[in-house]
Amino acid sequence: QWSLHDFDIGRPLGKGKFGRVYLAREKKSKYIVALKVIFKEQIEKYRLHHQLRREMEIQSSLSHPNVLRLFGWFHDGERIFLILEYAHRGEIYRLLRKSGYLSEKQAATYIASLTQALAYCHDKHVIHRDIKPENLLLDFEGRLKIADFGWSVQSRSKRHTMCGTLDYLAPEMVENKAHDYAVDNWTLGVLCYEFLYGVPPFEAESQKDTFRR
Ligand code: ADP
Ligand code: MG
Ligand code: MG
Repeated sequence: QWSLHDFDIGRPLGKGKFGRVYLAREKKSKYIVALKVIFKEQIEKYRLHHQLRREMEIQSSLSHPNVLRLFGWFHDGERIFLILEYAHRGEIYRLLRKSGYLSEKQAATYIASLTQALAYCHDKHVIHRDIKPENLLLDFEGRLKIADFGWSVQSRSKRHTMCGTLDYLAPEMVENKAHDYAVDNWTLGVLCYEFLYGVPPFEAESQKDTFRR
């Protein structure tokens, strides 16, 4: 029932592999949201139908203070729009690059929030599979929000698709074995290290070296 006419579009908020995200305001309610725009051409080209359907269905079914809400979606001839909760303070990635590393107290607070969000997701048999600082956003109050459910899956059985981002990959993923929700838990350790030291623990010159480490 939504369309682009219902929104005033503002500044760009960020860019991912396939999505561009803009600040937007619903005209009637003046409610501020983020609009994630994905071109249908890209979905065809990279065969992302499955991934996008999962992102929409899974994220919209979740409701937790530390999970970014997906309110709805609509499309026009060329694009699909996801209506997202706006995360005012942006990526934890940016905060980390700006300040180098975080205090123990700040790191502990984020890890606690992330743990609670993951426990909630795992309870619903949802695995995120792409937890990393670019996909952890902060709202106006600085509360952590898990975003980008593009690699997520809802399943009770072991999975086989290799996905995620190198520095945050669990060993079973690196070795191309079956995996489950434990791959998200692995990122808790990686991120705890990165929050306190500023760089992820297995970072190396080459992809091969990161795999080995
Ligand atoms: P992709 O799936 O292409 O990686 P993301 O959903 O991760 O796209 O969004 C890309 C970037 O846009 C994020 O890393 C973040 O910087 C920004 N962004 C996404 N959603 C929001 C939001 N709700 N509020 C503020 N910034 C956002
Ligand atoms: Mg992303
Ligand atoms: Mg994505």
